[in-house]
Amino acid sequence: MSAGRRCIATTEPRDGAVTILGGGIAGLACAIACALRGRDVTLVEQASALSEVGAGLQIAPNGGRVLDALGVTPRAVDNAAIHLVDGPTGRSVIRTPLGPGFRFVHRADLIAALAARAAAAGVTVRLDTKVETVERGGRALRLSDGGTLAADRLVGADGVRGAARAFVAPDHRPAFTGQVAWRAVVPVADWPREARIHAGPGRHLLCYPLRDGTALNLVAVEERDAWVADGWSRSDTPDALRRAFAGFANPVPELLARVRRVHLWGLMDHGATPRWHRGACTLIGDAAHPTLPFLAQGANLALEDAWTLAASLDDPAAWERVRRPRVARALGAARGNARNYHLSGLRRWAAHTALRGLDRLRPAALGESYRWLHDHDVTRP
Ligand SMILES: Cc1cc2nc3c(=O)[nH]c(=O)nc-3n(C[C@H](O)[C@H](O)[C@H](O)COP(=O)(O)OP(=O)(O)OC[C@H]3O[C@@H](n4cnc5c(N)ncnc54)[C@H](O)[C@@H]3O)c2cc1C
Repeated sequence: MSAGRRCIATTEPRDGAVTILGGGIAGLACAIACALRGRDVTLVEQASALSEVGAGLQIAPNGGRVLDALGVTPRAVDNAAIHLVDGPTGRSVIRTPLGPGFRFVHRADLIAALAARAAAAGVTVRLDTKVETVERGGRALRLSDGGTLAADRLVGADGVRGAARAFVAPDHRPAFTGQVAWRAVVPVADWPREARIHAGPGRHLLCYPLRDGTALNLVAVEERDAWVADGWSRSDTPDALRRAFAGFANPVPELLARVRRVHLWGLMDHGATPRWHRGACTLIGDAAHPTLPFLAQGANLALEDAWTLAASLDDPAAWERVRRPRVARALGAARGNARNYHLSGLRRWAAHTALRGLDRLRPAALGESYRWLHDHDVTRP
């Protein structure tokens, strides 16, 4: 990977060369996949270093297969189960064992592993290069320093607020879901190798271990009427988080007492944009279909996009036709989980009673209902 700080005007790119806008999980994975197919690849990223906001990420087998095919092996903790706990009482509701291939990774570790693999595959990375607009049918990137970068094929992996998305779907606006999410990491002595969801009326707290198991990733979600923020994420006070979960039983208060720094996100439901390609530009990852975090699939779907688009760069319309139904099903399932976690009153009692029964009889059944999602292997022809 050759990293340049600035790129002013350039000559026309080679035929078939690929320009990737955005150095997140989607962009880096697609850059590697294209390079492995012999393409000349340039990746453009506004940040001065390849890095990630937030700490944890759950990788499911469908995304993990893409990482394997790319030759990317981030440091990871195996995820043995999804464990639903009643937040207010602390009583276990259902523990669904998972098969192999479910992992927890630190985002920084994943980005570092992807960046190293991109380097080995010969991807050119241009850091510190902010794209203002995509122009000329997706064949030109107007840069914030006034320069222009020409593109033959452009992959828009610049996320929900990116220039590629503005070019392909300019009228598509996000809607606030009525939910905000805090993200924090706290130290723990030891923690089961499972994702634990402490669910209560109108809120839930997800926790899982990272790295050597001495750090616990927390994602706490609360329903709210309004979201007023100047940006996509902002710092919040640990006390605000603690207050929101004051009615929960231990270990939640104990864990939240350890929070020193916390970020707050307004969760926006963008849905999939009505189109994913225009001219020479095709969107992948969050730029195409930001996914609510309640199914832990945004990055996994981004990895699937990256692999499949690299194989179909010459026919993005056909690629979109095949991808859309699967992505739409995953987005719908994520929305459904949001409702199920936050039930209250009688509906909550009925749901937890039914799940406790399932836990005694066949706890794996819940996981099996997602086989359509996790067993899918985009790396097999
Ligand atoms: C609370 C929370 C928890 C989540 N947990 C999970 C999980 O467990 N599992 C999972 O699979 N997914 C999860 N997700 C979703 C996942 O984080 C995203 O789907 C994924 O990171 C999207 O990657 P991306 O590369 O498409 O976009 P991004 O990560 O947004 O990357 C876009 C890149 O483009 C760059 N860029 C943007 N604009 C420009 C510009 N104009 N010029 C140049 N560069 C630009 C940005 O700097 C950035 O590097 C979670 C999300 C949230 C909010």
